[in-house]
Formats: sequence, structure tokens, C-alpha cells
Amino acid sequence: MKWKHHLLSRESLEDKFIGSAIGTFVGDTLGMPVEGWGRAAIEARFGLLTTLEDGRFPRGYYTDDTEMMIGILEVLAENGDFDPNLTVKKFLENFHPERGYGGRIYVLMDRLRKGIPWHQVATDSFGNGAAMRIAPIGFFYFHDIKNVKRYAILSCKITHLHPEAIAGAVAQAIAVSLAVSYGIRNIPIPRIEFLDRIMEEVLDIHTGFVQRILEIKSISKLGLRDNIQNIARCFACHVRSIEAVPPAIASFLLTDTFKDAVVTGINLGGDTDTIGAMTGAIAGAYYGYSQIPEEWIQVLENASKGRDYVIGLAKKAAEILYRRLKKS
Ligand SMILES: [Mg+2]
Repeated sequence: MKWKHHLLSRESLEDKFIGSAIGTFVGDTLGMPVEGWGRAAIEARFGLLTTLEDGRFPRGYYTDDTEMMIGILEVLAENGDFDPNLTVKKFLENFHPERGYGGRIYVLMDRLRKGIPWHQVATDSFGNGAAMRIAPIGFFYFHDIKNVKRYAILSCKITHLHPEAIAGAVAQAIAVSLAVSYGIRNIPIPRIEFLDRIMEEVLDIHTGFVQRILEIKSISKLGLRDNIQNIARCFACHVRSIEAVPPAIASFLLTDTFKDAVVTGINLGGDTDTIGAMTGAIAGAYYGYSQIPEEWIQVLENASKGRDYVIGLAKKAAEILYRRLKKS
């Protein structure tokens, strides 16, 4: 997609970048208390879960999804471009094992800490762990889909080598970049075109993934009522990338506000914090930080690498890209 420089506003770019980063954070912590719960269990306990609640962490705390997203965002804001070795360094520096990482990651981090090169460390995982953290690559390169795909693949391969994981990371990154691109121009999302664009980019990686994206088209034909039921019926919504990324994309596409998108994502059940994080990343990139409910933002943890830190990083990344685009 050719980017029209004269349409670029610094404020809008910043709003979308912060929206996507804080959207990841908010979705993660909204889903945190019910991670691993089924849809029915969430409904029995909360009706519709729409507020930040205490879980295994106090309300407003983020988990591995946001912690790793911060690592990638730090690389882009400090280095001005993606770099896998620097990303490994950030992942290691930020790593708090108690933040709910998947079991496999401990061995992986251990090996990275010993200095084993990342390309000898990654395993054949099909999990959603690369997609959950990828938002910054989607927004920082939104003007250049080739680089979005290239760096999505590279960043995924630090930990996940299975084509399903790679397809999920690419799909999620492309979704974020399209969301910025439409959001910044204030254009309503053309749902079918949006999905076609994602399918085009994952076709050479995993055809099964394309089939799962196609399911979203079928769901959208059912109309926009009963989204949670319709999406949950179609996708297992667990840690497998192919079952987690499409419901996040669907939760964004089938709703009309940031709040509805994320509420839909976390109430599907399953890997709720990650689906929440990914839905929030796409929705935040489209609607912007200004549309994230204030009552959610107020509760976000704000210690050393908390809310204000993430906002600062996103601003810095937005400024770098703004200057770059103005110059080009
Ligand atoms: Mg998590």
C-alpha cells in the first residue's frame, strides 16, 4: 500500500501507536483473571466480563504477552529498526518468570542466557507466543507490508519455528498494520478486503491458516449479533496460534468500538489474556489510545515498566517513524 505523506498527522500516528501498545496491555490484563477458563465458566462467574479484576495477579498487572511486546517496542524505539539479537537481549532483561510464561520458554531463556545464538535455540512450537508480542512490528512498519512480514517472521523465529506459529505472527502483524493504515485515514474497515490482505500474506506459509481466516468471513455473514457465541463455536481459542489469532482478528472485525472488541475477545474463554492482548493490539491500532476506556487505563500497573513507560516508548517509536516518513 502506497502511503500518502500529505495525509500524515503526527498526533494521529502517536494515538494509534500508543493505542496498539496500551491495547495489548489492557487486553492482556483484562483476560488475565480468566486465563484457561471456558466461555461458560466466565459467563457463570461474571455474566459478561467487562472490568479489570484480580486474578493470579492484582488487577491491572500484565503478563508475558505485554512483557515481551515491551521488549520488541524497546528495540524499535531505541534502535530505530528491528534487530533479533537486540530483541533477545531485551527479552532476557525484562524476563520475570512469574508473569505467566508458557512452560517451554524457561528452558529457552536459560539457553539464551548462556549465550547460545537464538537461531540454535528456537523450537518447533505452534503456540501463539510470537503473535501475542508482535504489535510493535505491525505499527512501526505499517507503511511497508513487505517489512512487516519480513520482521514478523524473523521475530517469530527467535522462539517459534512451526509454520502455524509463523503464519499467526504474520497474520497478527499484518492486521495491526492495516488497522493503523485505515485508522489514521479514518476509513471504516472493509472487512472482506482486510481478510483477503491477511490471507495473501500467509498463503505461502501455511494453507491451513488461510482456511481458518476464511472462517471469519463465514462468521461475518451471520450478522453482528451473538459474536461471542459465533466465534467460540468456530475456534478452540487455546494456545495454538491457528486457534487464537483468528478469533482475535474476528473480535476486532465484528465489533464497532475498542471496548466491544476486547470484551468480545476475552469472553470467548480459553487463552483469554493472549486473545485479549492481540484483539487490543489491533483495535488500539485502529481506534487509537483516545478511545480506550479511561476506567481501564487508570487501573494499569505503573511501576518501572508499566503504563507510562509503555506510552513513552510508543511515542518515541511514533516520532521516529513520523520523521522518517516525512523525509522519504
Ligand atoms: Mg499471558
